[in-house]
Amino acid sequence: MTLHLKDISHFFGKTQILNRISLCVQPGEVVCLLGPSGCGKTTLLRIISGLERLQKGQISINDQMIAGPDKDTPPEKRGVGFLFQDFALFPHLNVLENTSFGLSHIRDRHRKKSMAVDALTRVGMQDFLRVHPHQLSGGQQQRVALARALAPGPEIILLDEPFSSLDTRLRTRIRDQTLHILKNSGAAAVMVTHDPEEAMFMADRIVLMNKGDIVQQGDLQALYFHPATPFAAGFFSEVNTLEGTVCQGEVQTVLGPVPAKNFEDNASVCVLFRPEAISLVCWPNPDRTCSVSAKITTTRLLPGATLVHLAISSSDSEMAPVRVHARIPGLVTRETGHTLAISLDLSQTFVFSSDSA
Ligand code: ATP
Repeated sequence: MTLHLKDISHFFGKTQILNRISLCVQPGEVVCLLGPSGCGKTTLLRIISGLERLQKGQISINDQMIAGPDKDTPPEKRGVGFLFQDFALFPHLNVLENTSFGLSHIRDRHRKKSMAVDALTRVGMQDFLRVHPHQLSGGQQQRVALARALAPGPEIILLDEPFSSLDTRLRTRIRDQTLHILKNSGAAAVMVTHDPEEAMFMADRIVLMNKGDIVQQGDLQALYFHPATPFAAGFFSEVNTLEGTVCQGEVQTVLGPVPAKNFEDNASVCVLFRPEAISLVCWPNPDRTCSVSAKITTTRLLPGATLVHLAISSSDSEMAPVRVHARIPGLVTRETGHTLAISLDLSQTFVFSSDSA
């Protein structure tokens, strides 16, 4: 089933929380709502589920309006599964009873049990039917909550920060399992997260939100390599920023000229590039025209890479050196104070008007 949101706006009191959100999620697709705390992600999820009343706009499932002007289908009739951030398992019910909870509309006891056991089997929790939530680990509780959401066979499944209460190592494993379970279910899934790495791992498509607006949506490659705004560029990783002025379609920077074709002469711009856009060039460099020299001020080993803090001197000796961070794959053994040649990958360099920063 396809989930279609059209022009959804929402207010709490006089404060606008969502501003004309439109979105379409296809069957089998995992879409992540990503954005900083308070940007309205959870409110949007609650509106889709019916837990929060829709104020403006329209929600349809397969062209059938479930919420809109004069229409408000109750949550239990929307065919939407919801996995809450804290899992919301009932402590006095065992795993089987918790999973059966969303199946109250099934009168036949045997059928109800077999649907619940089937959902628990899909998440690998079939051996824990009589166990209570407090006897389970966080990861096992998450899987029971997922089974409960999947048991009625929803065509749409909503997940609100489903991994946030798990520790880092468990999170990596559980989110991998969850992704496969979601994909096997074929449901259209909408997941809320404020963690870009989690969104990158889970999503077929990312919807980046800020202050109630959609900033940009698309697959990860589009958002990462073609960010629409400085906010979008900076949300996925640290970015280095250089200020400059456009002259004949270029900005002169300490790292060399950067194309700025869409800007007029004298436009003030900021040039953004990720730490991995810088690479080291052998020094002495036979082709000095394509590189600049930089001094290492500090290095820090990260998983799989070294973050190298660099100071680049400008041609104007009165100017303070420009400091940038480079993320170099592997271990960089050169010491603080060492001078090396670096080059900038222009395909990972983004120019925005200074007004938009
Ligand atoms: P987080 O990642 O921190 O959960 P979020 O992006 O999911 O944030 P929401 O929970 O949707 O954000 O909240 C958006 C804004 O709406 C916040 O400013 C929040 O304080 C406010 N808000 C949420 N629920 C209510 C409510 N019931 N009444 C009044 N304001 C609310």
